[in-house]
Amino acid sequence: MSHTRTNNNDLVVVTGAGGFIGGHLVSDLLRQGHRYIRAVDIKPFDEWYQIAPGVDNRRLDLRHRDACEEAAAGARQVYNLACDMGGMGFIETHKAQCMLSVLINTHMLMAARDARVERYFYSSSACVYAAEKQTRADVTPLREEDAYPAMPEDGYGWEKLFGERMCRHFLEDFGLETRVARYHNVYGPCGTFEGGREKAPAAMCRKVIEALRSGSRNIEVWGDGEQTRSFMYIDDCLLGTVTLMASDVREPLNIGSDELVTINQLLDIVEDIAGVKLTRRYILNAPKGVRGRSSDNTLIRKRLGWAPTTKLRDGMERTYRWIYDRMMAPAEERRVYS
Ligand code: NAD
Repeated sequence: MSHTRTNNNDLVVVTGAGGFIGGHLVSDLLRQGHRYIRAVDIKPFDEWYQIAPGVDNRRLDLRHRDACEEAAAGARQVYNLACDMGGMGFIETHKAQCMLSVLINTHMLMAARDARVERYFYSSSACVYAAEKQTRADVTPLREEDAYPAMPEDGYGWEKLFGERMCRHFLEDFGLETRVARYHNVYGPCGTFEGGREKAPAAMCRKVIEALRSGSRNIEVWGDGEQTRSFMYIDDCLLGTVTLMASDVREPLNIGSDELVTINQLLDIVEDIAGVKLTRRYILNAPKGVRGRSSDNTLIRKRLGWAPTTKLRDGMERTYRWIYDRMMAPAEERRVYS
């Protein structure tokens, strides 16, 4: 497999850098020795999960084309992670808002093409997969080809699938080398755990800590707890991302774990880490998404010679510790993450 690597003197742009994965990616690129990084997000700097010194940090609204042109100017590579999104509780109730992220990807692609960017990464999602392939808890893991015929998650999933196809056609028609990852449920420290956009692993940690703090010994679980998922630790996500970016793989690739668990089993893990056993109350009409979802990693193993390996128990231990520390910190310190 041929690899293209950037020189550490090349400018690399990360959008969505104030968010969970983008913040980690900037730190990872710095660790790899990159000297010129531009980090862009719409959020005020004091709300970024990580903000690295020595980086060209900019606050821009990338729904606008001029902002995308400013973000992409002089860049050799662009990692476009900016997106208005959240967990199931957010995407089931903000479908139009999720679809408006199409503006970000469209304008970033146009700006990258015009700035003669060499490589462009797009973070797609397992939400592009057809719902009819995810109706059983004992799900057959999703292969890349299962995205078609298309019937993705309403709102967010359609936006991601359209974004993927834009990347493909920018490659075919304009020669912009695009790389597309379909992330499956990424979790880890320095991410959202409260406020409505959090996802199941962080939400479970927060709820268990709240129960411990209040002494209530009860916990609410969305759905019957038997829906299945796989969760990928952030370190695997980062390695998969930079490896895919450097590869010659032009078609969308799953980057996800294939360690399938029920939501009840995820909660068992968190309870075990916290050393507590709680009474579960199942909220059957809460947003719960598809019945079962896991990543088929045959293609990523074949094309990149690698697949995520971090055990859920190990990643959740680190995530729980980080959320616990944040929740126990005084209120004025809770937003200062780096
Ligand atoms: P996140 O919400 O933590 O980060 C996204 C960032 O994009 C946020 O900081 C947000 O402020 C920023 N943003 C939103 N609108 C913007 C705009 N108009 N201009 C500039 N910045 C804007 O989410 P994340 O978990 O870090 O996800 C990163 C990417 O990976 C997203 O594209 C997401 O769809 C994709 N993805 C994530 C997961 C996951 O489990 N975390 C799964 C599948 C796909």
